[in-house]
Amino acid sequence: RIPEAPTATGHPKQLYMLFFTEMWERFSFYGMKALLLAYMISELKFDEPKGYAILGSYAALVYTMPMFGGMMSDRFLGGRKAVMYGGILMSIGHLVLALPEDWSFFYGMAFIICGNGFFKPNISSLVGTLYSDNDPRKDSGFSIFYMGINIGAALGGLLCGYVGQQINWHYGFGLAGLFMILGLVVFAIGKKSLGNYGLPPNPEDLKKPVFAGISKEVVIYVATLAVIPVIVALFNRYEIMDFIMFGLGALSILYILFIAFKMEAAARYKLFAALVLIVFSALFWSFYEQNAGSLNLFAMRNVDMHVMGIELPALAVNNFLPPGWVVVLSFFFAWLWPTLNRRGIEPNTPTKFGLSFVLVGLGFYVFYLGCVTSQGSGLIPLFTFIAGYFFIICGEMCISPIGLSMITKLSPARIVAMMMGIWFFASAVGEFLASKIGALMSVPQNVVDNPVLSLPYYAQILNQIGLWSLGIGVVLILFSRVIRKWMGEVR
Ligand code: GLN
Repeated sequence: RIPEAPTATGHPKQLYMLFFTEMWERFSFYGMKALLLAYMISELKFDEPKGYAILGSYAALVYTMPMFGGMMSDRFLGGRKAVMYGGILMSIGHLVLALPEDWSFFYGMAFIICGNGFFKPNISSLVGTLYSDNDPRKDSGFSIFYMGINIGAALGGLLCGYVGQQINWHYGFGLAGLFMILGLVVFAIGKKSLGNYGLPPNPEDLKKPVFAGISKEVVIYVATLAVIPVIVALFNRYEIMDFIMFGLGALSILYILFIAFKMEAAARYKLFAALVLIVFSALFWSFYEQNAGSLNLFAMRNVDMHVMGIELPALAVNNFLPPGWVVVLSFFFAWLWPTLNRRGIEPNTPTKFGLSFVLVGLGFYVFYLGCVTSQGSGLIPLFTFIAGYFFIICGEMCISPIGLSMITKLSPARIVAMMMGIWFFASAVGEFLASKIGALMSVPQNVVDNPVLSLPYYAQILNQIGLWSLGIGVVLILFSRVIRKWMGEVR
């Protein structure tokens, strides 16, 4: 096992190395995403439906790639090499976006997409390797890690959002790049402390020349680079994304069903439960991810950002709030679940999933009420915006941090990496749907500067998201006992 050197918190010191690596990576990832849609609309002058389509394609591909990155690492590279290579590609991507050139936009995103595929699933599995399966510290280790994700996201949203919107879009992207490099340096120095973990499963095989004296490892790296122009071509023909997402979505469901029907009953029902949770998580992200899409433009146009005579930068505020709330609420939920558990009234996992929809629905309803009561000025109070996010993030706390460990527990060991990839792919489908929902909130060019006239374009859809989310939450809670039964002994 890894040389144990428990810290004051009782967790191995390697957790904090992975924590800081992921914190700076998420700084760059969310810092860049904070700018993406507004940059396309304000700077590149894309019309809004096109802006949403490109955003949706980016976000969908960025969460589709972990399926392949996870596979490459399980079979060939091991987690460490995969994280290093992913980090390098992401750094290049952010720096390319910093260039004020026409060609750089799609290429920068394509590098980040490939890089994230190698980075994201593997940094999470490295956290998993620090603990054996029955180690009681495993869940709290993941909670600490989730905190790192969100501290990085909050700082990135704040700083890149501010620099990008107020000073220069490309400086904002460049800032993201610098912090990605910082994360990479932390990992490059710290990875030795992982001992034998995250090494390639078969190092000799990886060094073997497969083609013109070139090793398998190098072939994997170069083949990945060949995917980049393909992604750029997809951005230029983004209509094709509909077929890709629909096709991969259907295949993933069939794959899980196929494996399930080959299993004996108990394992089969666990996979059914996992499938239901995966499908609902996609729906969850389709509502939640209005944050990085429509709500960026809504914050710029229809939220009163004045506090004590100062005007706050809208993109920074909108992208700081969700991860900021996660950091604050993590402490509350770390207290809440064990306390309810001791009294025997902790909701089970499917009920928590249902609650997450109810809470997100309430959050969107708060935004909607803000719209209804602010028709005169067209600007909803900042307080209402902050309060809406409070509910939405309570919803996130009921689904996202528990999802990963749920999937590891419900899946048979030999397909766990694949199921993890499918779990992230649910985010991809969700973000893709989110951009379709966002596009329904497109505001015609001639009213974008008039808050009173732009407000109704948001109000109507925010209301509908609220109602749908509440409805789905109630249905899920009603069926939670059935899903709970399928889960067997898994808690
Ligand atoms: N915010 C979390 C992260 O960045 C979850 C994202 C997701 O699964 N869509 O890791």
